[in-house]
Amino acid sequence: MKKNNRIPLSPCLRRFRFYFDLLRKTTNDYLFFTDLQENMVMISPNLVQDFELPGEILFDLDKYWLPLIHPEERADYQASMDKVFSSQNSYDHNLEYRVRTRKGEYVWIRCRGRVGLDRDGKPYIFAGTMSRMAQRNKADEVTGLLNKYQFEHAVKLALAQYRETNEGGAILVFGLDNFKIVNETYNRLTGDLVLKRVANIIDNVLPPALTLFKLDGDEFAFIYPGATEKEVAEIFASVQSALSRPQDLEGHQYFCTASCGTVFYPEAGKDYLVLHKHAEAAMDIAKREGKNRNVIFSKEQYNRWVRSISMRDSIWESVENGCLGFSLFFQPQVSAEDQRLIGAEALLRWKNPKGRMVAPMEFIPILEETKLIIPVGKWIVEEAIKTCKKWRRVVPDFRVSINLSYEQIKDLSLQKCVEECLERYDMPADCIVLELTESKIVADWSFVNKQFDSFRKMGIAIAMDDFGTGYSSLASLKNLSCDIVKIDREFVKKILENDFDRRLVQYVVDLCHSIGIHCCIEGVEEEAEYDLLTKECKADSIQGYLFGHPESVEVFEEKFLQLEKEK
Ligand code: C2E
Ligand code: CA
Ligand code: CA
Repeated sequence: MKKNNRIPLSPCLRRFRFYFDLLRKTTNDYLFFTDLQENMVMISPNLVQDFELPGEILFDLDKYWLPLIHPEERADYQASMDKVFSSQNSYDHNLEYRVRTRKGEYVWIRCRGRVGLDRDGKPYIFAGTMSRMAQRNKADEVTGLLNKYQFEHAVKLALAQYRETNEGGAILVFGLDNFKIVNETYNRLTGDLVLKRVANIIDNVLPPALTLFKLDGDEFAFIYPGATEKEVAEIFASVQSALSRPQDLEGHQYFCTASCGTVFYPEAGKDYLVLHKHAEAAMDIAKREGKNRNVIFSKEQYNRWVRSISMRDSIWESVENGCLGFSLFFQPQVSAEDQRLIGAEALLRWKNPKGRMVAPMEFIPILEETKLIIPVGKWIVEEAIKTCKKWRRVVPDFRVSINLSYEQIKDLSLQKCVEECLERYDMPADCIVLELTESKIVADWSFVNKQFDSFRKMGIAIAMDDFGTGYSSLASLKNLSCDIVKIDREFVKKILENDFDRRLVQYVVDLCHSIGIHCCIEGVEEEAEYDLLTKECKADSIQGYLFGHPESVEVFEEKFLQLEKEK
């Protein structure tokens, strides 16, 4: 193998020969020692072998090495080597680049070297190692697809192509929905099986000219040069429909949908990192908007997303500081019959660190998603019971309604918290009502009912919130054992002009009454609505702006309790 070993070693390299031989027997990495003055290098035999270099001792290595380096990284390499040769002090060379092997394929290597100075402080030796970057070179181990490094490279090529031809395109990044559940419910092997199947399914849908890549975790991606929005929608629809067929997972039927984020280049970015970041954000938005959909990146939506991420950090901070910034507002509930104040709904408010009031519709989904609703919910229970105790001195049967998300009901420690709180404030169980407030589908009604039944056994009333919207309908009335149904403002809004809506409310109230359920109508704003709802529809209680907006404890006392005192 030693081809031109007749070149005598320079005195400098001779000094290091002993160490060099010692080292090369202990590692599979490539070794090199360069005499900077002579520009002579001593390299390990594996380097000679793998890259077909002329020998282990060479003058001017770069004459042979540079042509093997991938053109894209050649300039970086040269810049770093210039510093090695011209450095006036010790310099660290640390670079990743592709080199062509004797087989003609490019492999990624990481080269690390350091310049050593002689006694006079002059650079005289440059020594180091090169290692093959296994993860950069391999295809994804699970799916056999090209990995994220090749994806990065492909995106860069697509961008270069755009600069040459002015033809842009789209990049689609897919993330599997609920993949964590598969890993948690089964195991990693099953998870890998799912990934492999999904890879096949998507790959089969793509036109042959498009390449599917496997990114980190459960993510896939492909580049679609020249794509229009319509074409992206079509290709997403075909992936979606291919994935919509149930999969068999160890005897179980399993649906594996995917959420997708699409970026168009160059509109969404002209460099890989920006495009990747924007595609990931669009995919995250797709997941938050309900999964199994494609979201095309837009600047406005991205800015909103960034805000919600930073809101998440502020919310964490608030919760960690004992729910600082959170407060409860109370909205009066009156008896339909005589407009007497009978209770209030506790509504959560949050002031961000800058002092701005944030709408519940914005921060409650974040509390639910991060499960912070659990500690915050416990804080709400305490505040609500404490406040109710105070207000019962004026209205002895006053009740506070507390909103509960599905996340909170799933948390088994909630009941103990409620029990302890009632005990601590020496309050009877009938001072609170728990409202199931959830726009998402409840996965397991029998579990929810079991939880609610044990609350009901304690003497706590359960209300079904927002009847007539989302999950809450006649069907769920059958599923949920509850004491109160709250009919949503959606119904009330049209009641004056729409006969059908009025009758519907009437029937729902009737139906509820026939099985001993009370009806509270929400969102009553006008006197005429109130008249109709009480006289014709026979509602039991009313909550709405007509009788009061949600107010802070102080304002509530001033506005509503003072009146009761005077009665
Ligand atoms: P919700 O439980 O349906 O609460 C009633 C919402 O309707 C309140 O909005 C209230 O201000 C509003 N509202 C009341 N009367 C009227 C009316 O006459 N007209 C109109 N147009 N609106 C009326 P808010 O306070 O913005 O709360 C929004 C939602 O946030 C609540 O809807 C509930 O789903 C959720 N939420 C609020 N507080 C909590 C909480 O402590 N825990 C949980 N889990 N969710 C909460
Ligand atoms: Ca509610
Ligand atoms: Ca409601």
